[in-house]
Amino acid sequence: MRRVLVTGGCGFIGCNFLRLMVRERPETEWVNLDALTYAGWLENTEDFADAPNYRFVHGSIEDAQLVEALFSGGFDAVVNFAAESHVDRSIAGPRVFVETNVLGTQNLLEAARRHGVSRFLQISTDEVYGSLGPDDPPFTEETPLRPNSPYAASKASADLLCRAYHKTYGMDVLITRCSNNYGPYQYPEKLIPSFIRHALRDEPVPLYGDGMNVRDWLHVEDHCRAVALVLERGRPGRVYNVGGGNEHTNLEITRIVLDALGKPHDLISFVTDRPGHDRRYATDSSLLRRELGWRQEHPFERGIRETVAWYVENAAWAEKVSAGLAG
Ligand code: NAD
Repeated sequence: MRRVLVTGGCGFIGCNFLRLMVRERPETEWVNLDALTYAGWLENTEDFADAPNYRFVHGSIEDAQLVEALFSGGFDAVVNFAAESHVDRSIAGPRVFVETNVLGTQNLLEAARRHGVSRFLQISTDEVYGSLGPDDPPFTEETPLRPNSPYAASKASADLLCRAYHKTYGMDVLITRCSNNYGPYQYPEKLIPSFIRHALRDEPVPLYGDGMNVRDWLHVEDHCRAVALVLERGRPGRVYNVGGGNEHTNLEITRIVLDALGKPHDLISFVTDRPGHDRRYATDSSLLRRELGWRQEHPFERGIRETVAWYVENAAWAEKVSAGLAG
């Protein structure tokens, strides 16, 4: 591939993906389109911003004129990370989630169709499948879509548009649906960096409900490697689940983080649960393993220790990007 458009590359997963790709695929030009919302920071791309095969464009995926002009330059592929991504914000104000995640994705699909872009990879989430009971098997690609939050509903809507563009126009569209990511550069409103930030200040660590909600954790770099594999070798029209096989309750995660920081467990403070809080996610990645040979490279225990150490070393970054956050 000669030119790839990556959207949302100044956010958590997008910047980790670009960091790997800009270095490891020097023959490809990587163009990052990002609106720099509260979650997107140029600081996240600082270490590769001057690379000759990297270019940043400030703008929104919903801006039809800008997107049209950008696509006129020609792309071989699009990887769409750009999104509003925080469930709590989607409960407080769902509209921007529809605008960015649904209309923005449709705008990109349309431009890709008009300009004959050969691949379109949509970065989705396992949250589109809804919630599992304690004994249910993990989500497969055949699990029906049953989103419960406005965030998950907007991502499921985008997935359906991707499917429709594949079926109707024969476009080479692929979707990845990943479980919860952890790792460096995650915006400190999300569970793990938020817990680290509170604990480092010796403040109560706010845990929703009874803390028994289960999530399946995957290191962000393992997700990014899966995205690269699907981009380069995935079968057109396919959905690929990406999961860590690391199910933990939020209470366990809180204790792991506190232990890694040497902080007492009595910092844990149970707070009123999120409305409609999904109880359990677990994701079966056997299709990705079987078809594309994906393997996890970051064992959870080591990955989480390294992640906590990264946030301790980069406390100034966390303070800067989270200056606007309450609490
Ligand atoms: P993030 O919130 O950290 O970053 C989102 C990025 O998108 C930011 O840089 C932001 O500025 C940019 N953006 C937002 N609106 C935009 C717009 N209209 N135009 C251009 N750019 C815009 O999100 P993340 O955690 O990196 O997630 C990236 C993608 O991966 C999302 O699509 C999300 O649904 C998906 N995903 C995330 C996780 C996770 O655990 N974080 C898991 C599975 C899937």
